Amino acid sequence: MKTSKPKAKPPRRIAVIGAGIAGIACARTLMQAGHHVTVFDKNQAVGGRMATTETAFGTFDYGAQYFTVRDPRFLLALQATAQHVCRPWSANLVRVLDAFGRVASAALPGRESHWVPTPGMNALVEHWAQPFVSQKQIELETRVVGIERDRMAPRQWQLRTQGSPGVPDAEHVFSGFDQVLLATTAAQAQRLLFDDAAHPKFAKALQDVRVAPCWTLLLAYPQASQPTLSHLGPQWNAARSNHHRIAWLARESSKPGRGGVERWTVQASAAWSHEHQEDDTPRVQAKLHKAFAEVTGIRAEPTMATVHCWGSAQTIKPLGRSHLWDDKAGLGLAGDWCLGHRVEDAFISGLELALSVA
Ligand code: FAD
Repeated sequence: MKTSKPKAKPPRRIAVIGAGIAGIACARTLMQAGHHVTVFDKNQAVGGRMATTETAFGTFDYGAQYFTVRDPRFLLALQATAQHVCRPWSANLVRVLDAFGRVASAALPGRESHWVPTPGMNALVEHWAQPFVSQKQIELETRVVGIERDRMAPRQWQLRTQGSPGVPDAEHVFSGFDQVLLATTAAQAQRLLFDDAAHPKFAKALQDVRVAPCWTLLLAYPQASQPTLSHLGPQWNAARSNHHRIAWLARESSKPGRGGVERWTVQASAAWSHEHQEDDTPRVQAKLHKAFAEVTGIRAEPTMATVHCWGSAQTIKPLGRSHLWDDKAGLGLAGDWCLGHRVEDAFISGLELALSVA
């Protein structure tokens, strides 16, 4: 009996907007399948919310703090990645019960492993994005401001962009894409796709997705540096907190490969961040610093203190499926908000979108 093999799809030109873990997981899967992929990101570096900033006192992971590995597909991808890129973090995680820093138990029981890329959270995506960098198939500092049909070839797409490396006002048109995949936050996708109701089916699917903001405080205490001095404050390195302002605190310097200067990252709760989203920065910084001192008992003045507001940080209500893909239009959407609020959710979403497209 004759069996017919499924026809391999011919290579296509694909644009991926967003170089967070969803976008890069998607782009590299499509590249491995033989497609010509170009990645666009408005930031100077890849990683998205797996973000690391360098300061005179060492790095801070001011977005995602660590990741978990629950899905076998994520595990496989990590096993195929050079071992030095990600390391386990002994977070010594506790729950802080009140404004006086009372701890619920010595450690949260039965915790799964916490993984961190080194030297910063952005290193995993940076590693996976390397083929795009070396083949000049990534456009950084390039914000996509419009997605439209290519007038010369109406079955294809073109992207209008603003900015290019070192030239923030530059405007360009990149054309000739068979497919366009958005791996941005839900809000950014909405702005790009639906302002002119270009894709009503997707617009409807996204209308119930909810994502909370997050104010993040970064503090450095160079007066306390390992290994010569013991660290300041509590014995624990990370805590979930019931304090009404603070949801999470972590001693950055306890993560592997981060250097010894005592540094803390403090994340406000979703409710407090939402309530204070429009407040001015010094006010937010003062309030969060006060709460930090209450929870940790660290009264010393930090040498460096700064705050950052993530407009879209943590998914409260996800889409409920891994991605959106319209084969006829050649448009797709991925991102953590499809499935949840974790790094893994973003990875799986990007991977599943790529498998639908390939
Ligand atoms: P993103 O990382 O947001 O990537 C989207 C990319 O699209 C960005 O790089 C952006 O610049 C780009 N982009 C957007 N619009 C455009 C445009 N118009 N043109 C060009 N580029 C564009 N998860 C965990 O698992 N563990 C944690 O401890 C954890 N803590 C967190 C703490 C905070 C404060 C925040 C903010 C998030 C945290 N998360 C955590 C969530 C985790 O960071 C995300 O789930 C994950 O990084 C999302 O990846 P993504 O690729 O879907 O989106």
